[in-house]
Amino acid sequence: MDMQISLLDRLFDSGLLIDTGVEGVYARSGTFEDVITAFEGLIDRFAGNTGAEVIRFPPGMNRAHFEGSGYMKNFPQLAGTVHSFCGCELDHQNLIKCMAEGSDWTEGQKASDIVLTPAACYPLYPIVARRGPLASGGALFNIQSYCFRHEPSNDPARMQLFRMREFVRLGRPEDVMAFRGEWMEKGKELMGSLEMPVEVDVANDPFFGRAGRLLKNNQRDQNLKFELLIPINSVANPTACMSFNYHQDHFGSTWGLKTADGETAHTACVGFGLERIALALFHHHGLDPKLWPASVRKALGH
Ligand code: ATP
Ligand code: ZN
Ligand code: MG
Repeated sequence: MDMQISLLDRLFDSGLLIDTGVEGVYARSGTFEDVITAFEGLIDRFAGNTGAEVIRFPPGMNRAHFEGSGYMKNFPQLAGTVHSFCGCELDHQNLIKCMAEGSDWTEGQKASDIVLTPAACYPLYPIVARRGPLASGGALFNIQSYCFRHEPSNDPARMQLFRMREFVRLGRPEDVMAFRGEWMEKGKELMGSLEMPVEVDVANDPFFGRAGRLLKNNQRDQNLKFELLIPINSVANPTACMSFNYHQDHFGSTWGLKTADGETAHTACVGFGLERIALALFHHHGLDPKLWPASVRKALGH
């Protein structure tokens, strides 16, 4: 019998995460949230005065924008939709009866105009496109969103609902590539200041099905996605805590995003998995932030 207490159990025992009965959906303690707040402050200090426009999204997005993004073509297995009861009184009586009997009461639920946001930058592109062509020099956004992915797991680092901070750069290919390159260096420096072992490696997204294999290989061959990895649950399989994505003109052509010169805009985003980074800190420095190394506490502004 495996007598080792899992990281998830230690997190529950310490009260940092609180079990809701569903894998990957956790409530967090004040201490856990304080770490995320401090880390977001560190991101801003590292980013410096970039003039990035700050936008914070709710956890759901416009279903039409989600449909337009092509998400269901690539990642149908991860998506979550919001359905609501839209029936009459008779339908309601049936629903109550189904619930009482323990039969499926969700059948009558109708798709609403909202889906759960799968990645922080998905709601951004159509909003920017609506504003017209980019200014010369392009655009930079500082965004955050709750994200949903249907990937239940007992790995505490693989949640179904989690927060993503991102910087998103839109503009000419060379400008967005330079932005991504700078953040790959800054990301290593930032995590280094928190005394965590990091590794950056090429990566791919989990494109669905047999056709997806080709897309995964293509993404890797073209170096479109890199991840910054930190061991959390396993040293052999470190966890992606940041990602650096170059979308080429995918979102630009999907949403008609134009540069000031009238070219289709290219885009890149740099994402921070906020819960994962907090978990990495707890894993490497212990479950009590008051006992973390002085240098780490200082970097976090404590
Ligand atoms: P993984 O390969 O581990 O599934 P990912 O490639 O799906 O990660 P991205 O889509 O690049 O990750 O998302 C950006 C960041 O969001 C990741 O670097 C990670 O820190 C965080 N993230 C992704 N999925 C989850 C999850 N299920 N739970 C918590 N954080 C996550
Ligand atoms: Zn993104
Ligand atoms: Mg994933």
